Amino acid sequence: MPALLVHYTSAVKIDEELHFKHFKSLALGAQGPDTFMAYGTVPWHKREDKKIINPWGAKMHHTPVEDVYVKMMSYATKQAEKEVLFDFIEGLFLHFALDRVMHPYIFARTGFDEKGELHGFYKWSHGFFEAILDKDFSKRHGTYKKTWKVLACPKDDLKAISKMWHACAPYPLKEDSFEKSQIDYVSAMKMIYTHTGLRRPFLKLILGKYSAGYAQSMPASTRRYRVLDVENKTHRMWRDPTSGKETNLSCDEMLEKALNEFKQVHVLIEKAKQGDDVYEQVKAWAANLDHDGTPYGEEKHYYSLCWDALKS
Ligand SMILES: [Zn+2]
Ligand SMILES: [Zn+2]
Repeated sequence: MPALLVHYTSAVKIDEELHFKHFKSLALGAQGPDTFMAYGTVPWHKREDKKIINPWGAKMHHTPVEDVYVKMMSYATKQAEKEVLFDFIEGLFLHFALDRVMHPYIFARTGFDEKGELHGFYKWSHGFFEAILDKDFSKRHGTYKKTWKVLACPKDDLKAISKMWHACAPYPLKEDSFEKSQIDYVSAMKMIYTHTGLRRPFLKLILGKYSAGYAQSMPASTRRYRVLDVENKTHRMWRDPTSGKETNLSCDEMLEKALNEFKQVHVLIEKAKQGDDVYEQVKAWAANLDHDGTPYGEEKHYYSLCWDALKS
């Protein structure tokens, strides 16, 4: 995931054009399966089944979207909360559209281990880069907010959405798993929020220097990191981690690309809402990519760590 505010920005931008009925539902959907990654992460909400539920967030990032979201659409057509559910599903597609375009860039600049995964240093590298990007990008687009506020959703809508995940995910979720994930996500974001940055040393101490929580806690000022040009405004070359192909897209251009691609699938979502079977078309749109932007069956190889620029 690029972090919450980058995804939220994409929801604000698309809503300006397409005017969704339930913006909060769209905005929560735009956080995608990331929400599950918060399940059980705050110490004061005991979640006995954390080890079962939480991994679904990461798993869904590597599950073909057509296999889950098309099922959700046919489920949603039969529900009283159809409109709320469809706007949430639109958000899920928007999340995927942005993830698959922007994630290769983030991986290219922050690295990954031999298996293409994020552990230890790489978990920090990835998360902290996204935290800086979240702040700079949203401030420039006028969408900066306290992160947990973008997760707000009316309780009944949240319950209906949670039931849909339970009914459609090829994974043992409970009816309230998503609902509790959202509650934990709000708490976790409040826990790591620090206006002055004073809380960061404590987070580092308590959660660990390579922890996701410490990494994702935004620094009070991003001035020190300006030399990294996290938004790639200067259009420096970066290589796609899987294909090695060079590109110089900036984050604004990636957002534009993702929104344009989203508009193509939006047409299909509208059709599904009328009861059409759009599986094959959605599958073609998804183009065999996971949320990392990696084609299924391939591996990531290339990256060039950005942090060295801080030393000079
Ligand atoms: Zn990410
Ligand atoms: Zn994500």
